Amino acid sequence: MLSCSSHSSRATLSAFSHFLPTTSPYFNFSSLSPKTFSPTPLNFGWRAATAPKPRMASTFPARASAQPLQNADELIDSVETFIFDCDGVIWKGDSLIDGVPETLDMLRSRGKRLVFVTNNSTKSRKQYGKKFETLGLSVSEEEIFASSFAAAAYLKSINFPKDKKVYVIGEDGILKELELAGFEYLGGPEDGGKKIELKPGFLMEHDENVGAVVVGFDRYFNYYKIQYGTLCIRENPGCLFIATNRDAVTHLTDAQEWAGGGSMVGALAGSTQREPLVVGKPSTFMMDYLANKFGILKSQICMVGDRLDTDILFGQNGGCKTLLVLSGVTSLSMLQSPNNSIQPDFYTSKISDFLSLKAATV
Ligand SMILES: [Mg+2]
Repeated sequence: MLSCSSHSSRATLSAFSHFLPTTSPYFNFSSLSPKTFSPTPLNFGWRAATAPKPRMASTFPARASAQPLQNADELIDSVETFIFDCDGVIWKGDSLIDGVPETLDMLRSRGKRLVFVTNNSTKSRKQYGKKFETLGLSVSEEEIFASSFAAAAYLKSINFPKDKKVYVIGEDGILKELELAGFEYLGGPEDGGKKIELKPGFLMEHDENVGAVVVGFDRYFNYYKIQYGTLCIRENPGCLFIATNRDAVTHLTDAQEWAGGGSMVGALAGSTQREPLVVGKPSTFMMDYLANKFGILKSQICMVGDRLDTDILFGQNGGCKTLLVLSGVTSLSMLQSPNNSIQPDFYTSKISDFLSLKAATV
């Protein structure tokens, strides 16, 4: 269950203020004091609602080249929280990456907080908990932050009205998290088999009470969903357009890359001419949420991931230390390519290097 209860609502909301549409009909800005609310220069009016743009590496001065991780102890001592991406860091498909259980045990024994963040919205936190359990890892649901959860957490953070509905383009994970957060929804897998029969004068009805459209990765994406989501966003006053992520590709099989959540989001962005509000990586929503929930300084966090344009950018956008592992989709040559401008602080082959690099320094 989402919990922001340990903080005052004002403090919680102020942490998200830069994500909020300035003309959102669902949020009372007058409840914020001038000190806690900094209006964003972006126009978030409902017809032009846009996500806060993540920093794009090309627009910033080049960072120093990433250094190979040589002294893991020093890095471990310098932070209190490790945020791990999952696929390519903890597991690959359904196989655990070598040395992960021992590494996580060592970090826990040294008092480090561990958090697992994934852009994959097809599962809920509970479903991810089962995956960790199946792989023999002891990870609680409270340590898992999937973009499905982030979508529900975002709606909760803006006090999205309970009498409004959410139209979902995506899979079961989003529905489960919305349900847990107490939001009414429609769409999702149920609309996967729906077809549109075009006849002269045919008009598609839509629910005028939909106040948000959430779009995530969806293997059963179709024209019905595009049209339904488009009607809600274009015709329902104030309707939000939320994306769990804009990943270009995903790894459904190990034989090739497959079109990712960005392809579904792109379709709706094309038909509505609106930019979505992204809650997954590299947007800083989840980082802000985590820092706020656990009361941690972002400089005390190390983001560990295998993708430069999501994980490492996510860490850098959040002001955290960053470690790239080469156990997933990024190779050393990709990292060192002149075409790559995203440089983490450190890189290493896999997270269990924490153990061997520790041993080497003793
Ligand atoms: Mg990954």
